[in-house]
Amino acid sequence: MAGFLKVLFHNVLDGPSTDPFPLGETFTPQRFRGKVVVDPDICMGCGICRHVCAAGAISISPRPDQSGYDFTVWHNSCCLCAQCRHYCPVGAITLTNDWHNAHPQEEKYNWVERKFVPYVPCADCGTPMRPLPLSIARRIYLNNPDINVERIITLCPKCRQVEDARTHSSCAWPAAAKPGKTAGEGAPAKADATAGDAAPKE
Ligand code: SF4
Ligand code: SF4
Repeated sequence: MAGFLKVLFHNVLDGPSTDPFPLGETFTPQRFRGKVVVDPDICMGCGICRHVCAAGAISISPRPDQSGYDFTVWHNSCCLCAQCRHYCPVGAITLTNDWHNAHPQEEKYNWVERKFVPYVPCADCGTPMRPLPLSIARRIYLNNPDINVERIITLCPKCRQVEDARTHSSCAWPAAAKPGKTAGEGAPAKADATAGDAAPKE
């Protein structure tokens, strides 16, 4: 009896010790693995997250008009394993600590994280593409000081390769292949390198 009165007295003074949920919000640890969200400003559309998602919860669908792609995460399928976050090379995908995921069965196809990720034209050839995040470009081209990273992030993957080949000191630019040459004759020769030989046509 004395113990009961002690608890009652404590609850009257300080409020209930038990969790108020579902009548009120409850404590959620900061590192709780909840709903997946994607940052459309950073995502490159590489598809690694979709590839590693064992639940098949991620869809990346390019739009027919080449304006970009729709990135969808099906909360109904996601098992919150965080593999997508682990393998995303640019940190575009995160797991929030939002665990409010209960939903009626008939809403399961609408219970999604959906973002439109727009393409931008490549600065050289105009091909629709996703720009490389600056932080990633700095790491990739760390050992090539001749690369202008502010410019290279505006190029599509093909034009980035061309730019890299033009500037990289260890890379020789191949001369135009000529018919009738034997193996080795048309090998890359740096002296023959002409800027723009294989650049994408405008
Ligand atoms: S947390 Fe796991 S199951 Fe959910 S979308 Fe990411 S990889 Fe797929
Ligand atoms: S979220 Fe990350 S891994 Fe997924 S497509 Fe975008 S950049 Fe690639």
